[in-house]
Amino acid sequence: MLHVGINGFGTIGKRVADAVCVQPDMTVAGVAKRSPNFEATIAVDRGYDLFAAGEGGADPFEAAGLDAIGTVGDLVAASDVVVDATPGGVGATNAALYADHDTPAIFQGGETPTVAEVSFVARANYDAAVGADTARVVSCNTTGLSRLFAPLEAAYGIEKARITLVRRGGDPGQTGRGPINDTLPDPVEIPSHHGPDVQTVFPDLAIDTMGMTVPTTQMHTHSVNVTLQSAPDAAAVRELLADESRLFLVPETLGIDGAGKLKEYTRDAGRPRGDVWENCIWAESVTVEGRDLYLFQAIHQEADVVPENIDAVRALSERTASAAQSIRRTDEALGVGEGLVQHGAEPASVEGTADD
Ligand code: NAD
Repeated sequence: MLHVGINGFGTIGKRVADAVCVQPDMTVAGVAKRSPNFEATIAVDRGYDLFAAGEGGADPFEAAGLDAIGTVGDLVAASDVVVDATPGGVGATNAALYADHDTPAIFQGGETPTVAEVSFVARANYDAAVGADTARVVSCNTTGLSRLFAPLEAAYGIEKARITLVRRGGDPGQTGRGPINDTLPDPVEIPSHHGPDVQTVFPDLAIDTMGMTVPTTQMHTHSVNVTLQSAPDAAAVRELLADESRLFLVPETLGIDGAGKLKEYTRDAGRPRGDVWENCIWAESVTVEGRDLYLFQAIHQEADVVPENIDAVRALSERTASAAQSIRRTDEALGVGEGLVQHGAEPASVEGTADD
């Protein structure tokens, strides 16, 4: 049984902790938090041992009626592997602590790639993390793109990818983020940072990315054009993608027209927090013209990196499971792919207007 410590119990950390809990080969060694906010009370309610990460030690937690049983150093000492889910840039400042304890560590996409030996997406480069001491689970957008590129590259070869990322303004809990009434080229510079980040996983991939930020908290949406090295028909691409456990081909019959209904669907399906761990690819958007593939996909920024963190734990610390075995184990325990109607029939042609 692997004892997994979680340092940082916010949007990503609390989801990773709950995902660790349901794995048959892992248990939560404890969670470290800086402030005794509502998430600290949830950690205690869930039965996780709470460790203090802030300068005030356990005092602010005790003042809030919460029992912190040690410091973040104690948590690292009690862990076989640590998942660092602190805010972007903070993880790098924790790296020496993990190294001092000789504890393998997993960082998140808000860190620069140099924080770890490997930038990790299970479907793309699991083996590169086996035997490493550190890995960085790449950002939600990079994860979503890499999961899509891995089967396309293997089946057809990729000549060039061009992606426009329509990014959510913030997570639901990030009340200070925006915009609230605008559409921003973000970043204005081209390519956006996403392309180079994908290249930390696929070093030889030719990719251009453009980013925009819009007033939603629901999900990111990607407009994808990939020039392949061969010319499959769209039905073959749909079947290829439908075979991937972390890609959900949204059937036209469900009447899901955007991220709002996707989130509603997964809430109705009983997913914890309404989480969507899979890339959501609109089946009828999958179009091939010559060697050019086009599609739309939505990425739930709070959730898609969660199964990747579980696989990264296994790659760093168990070292016996293959990529396919770890992905299957993670997906079965978490329920990835469950409760969703998979794409089956060929979509009907869609009549549309061009007024927007
Ligand atoms: P968050 O702000 O929701 O949570 C961070 C948690 O860490 C909070 O509980 C905070 O109190 C705690 N914390 C702050 N400083 C700390 C410290 N020094 N030691 C221990 N804990 C500390 O952040 P998040 O959205 O969960 O992001 C965490 C990482 O995951 C970042 O690298 C981010 O870029 C990445 N990520 C975030 C998303 C997303 O959409 N939220 C998606 C993918 C990756």
